[in-house]
Amino acid sequence: MIGVYQQKGIQFFDVIKEALRKHLNLDSLHAGFFALTSNSYNPIKQQYDASTVIRDLTDQSSSKFNLRLGVVEVDIYAHGMNFIFGMAEPLKRVALVSTYRLAGDKITERLSKEVVHEIGHLLGLEHCSNPSCVMHFSNTLNDTDYKNVGLCNNCRIYIE
Ligand SMILES: [Zn+2]
Ligand SMILES: [Zn+2]
Repeated sequence: MIGVYQQKGIQFFDVIKEALRKHLNLDSLHAGFFALTSNSYNPIKQQYDASTVIRDLTDQSSSKFNLRLGVVEVDIYAHGMNFIFGMAEPLKRVALVSTYRLAGDKITERLSKEVVHEIGHLLGLEHCSNPSCVMHFSNTLNDTDYKNVGLCNNCRIYIE
């Protein structure tokens, strides 16, 4: 069971639940909301540091879930990258996705892909060289739009 924690105001739980059920055969629960802390904000970049957001989420959420997912609508970055769509920390069993750069007509599809990708990492999947596989690394939104919501056959074997 995946505990899903959204930043207040975000209403994508149904999209997330459906994507994880359909593509990873996992159940999700709307576990509550979580708040960003000022610790995670970088005023110079005007973005939030994804590792710190994950740490805050870990502190604010319930460890009864074997996997936890946070969803935020602010822009996030990681060390050495201008921005990221999401991040996973398999050792904490916690992942994070941001809707900030996914906005537009395709937001439902894009968010589904990013959620499946990050939860895929929590299940132990690495990046896949197949550009149409959901585990392919997305450097740009074009990469995200190109790939499928599901796993390629090679990645699928790994989790079955
Ligand atoms: Zn990745
Ligand atoms: Zn793959």
